[in-house]
Amino acid sequence: LMQLYLPLNFLGSVYSSLRNSLVDLEHMFALLDERSDVVDRPGARLLPARLDEAPAADVRFRHVRFGYRAGREILHDISFHVRAGSRVAIVGPTGAGKSTISRLLFRFYDVDAGAIEVDGHDIRDYSQSALRAAIGVVPQDTILFNDTIGYNIAYGCLGATQAQIEEAARLARIHDFIASLPDGYATRVGERGLKLSGGEKQRVAIARTILKNPRILLLDEATSALDTRTEHEIQSALRTVAAHRTTIIIAHRLSTVIDADEILVMDKGEIRERGDHRALLARGGLYAGMWAAQAEENAKAHMVQD
Ligand code: ADP
Repeated sequence: LMQLYLPLNFLGSVYSSLRNSLVDLEHMFALLDERSDVVDRPGARLLPARLDEAPAADVRFRHVRFGYRAGREILHDISFHVRAGSRVAIVGPTGAGKSTISRLLFRFYDVDAGAIEVDGHDIRDYSQSALRAAIGVVPQDTILFNDTIGYNIAYGCLGATQAQIEEAARLARIHDFIASLPDGYATRVGERGLKLSGGEKQRVAIARTILKNPRILLLDEATSALDTRTEHEIQSALRTVAAHRTTIIIAHRLSTVIDADEILVMDKGEIRERGDHRALLARGGLYAGMWAAQAEENAKAHMVQD
């Protein structure tokens, strides 16, 4: 069992941070008992999980309202549609409710009003394990098991062959790094092994997701600044994993939002603006303001570099 690989105090200490950010939800569910207030209905539906079993999924939020505590609503009447194979980016300040949307789609919590649908059915009608198997999560910060790097990539896809693991690592732009290590894929990582950088960990998560091949992808882009080359490699790996897949991205970078099919601009639990990059710029509102501010920051950063 997975429990054996992680010391209990470590689990205890990450529990609260797991709950408060979109950190490795998948591991969390494998490691801890599922919440008792989110339960399967009798005769819950199944859902094809992988993109090689069924086309990309259709995801819809219909008038969703949600609060973590009674009397404090966090999401107010959220509606949007992520058509099969399309990409929606969610932007907005910290606390706007972006991660809460991901947690609800993953059914960490049930909505208070409205509904979330996948392929036209309320997610409360699916078995939780079937729903979660269909969603791949690339979190900001991936927690690695104290095991080999190969095991960490194959995690969640335990029947994977070495050839498939290496192919996924290649697509995630992490193969060359792994191949350069003296023990290659057998290198031990995690708390008691080799420490990976944020960018390397994120590429491990991308490789894992490529192997899992889920019909829905939830991406939480790292906020921390990466060097230009790492940034470029990660962006290109992310493009590979997102291609033809229904994708929801919590975005922090202009390069990611520019080609999204729809951008949702959130603030205080509401969608304040929506549209594609051009339309939102033309509107001259919140998004246009954020864009101008980020462009200015980028320009400053370049001046410092030069
Ligand atoms: P974002 O991802 O846009 O930064 P979040 O979805 O994390 O925003 O948070 C939205 C709001 O919900 C914030 O006011 C935050 O304090 C609150 N919140 C987030 N997680 C919890 C939680 N586990 N319990 C109570 N409130 C929470």
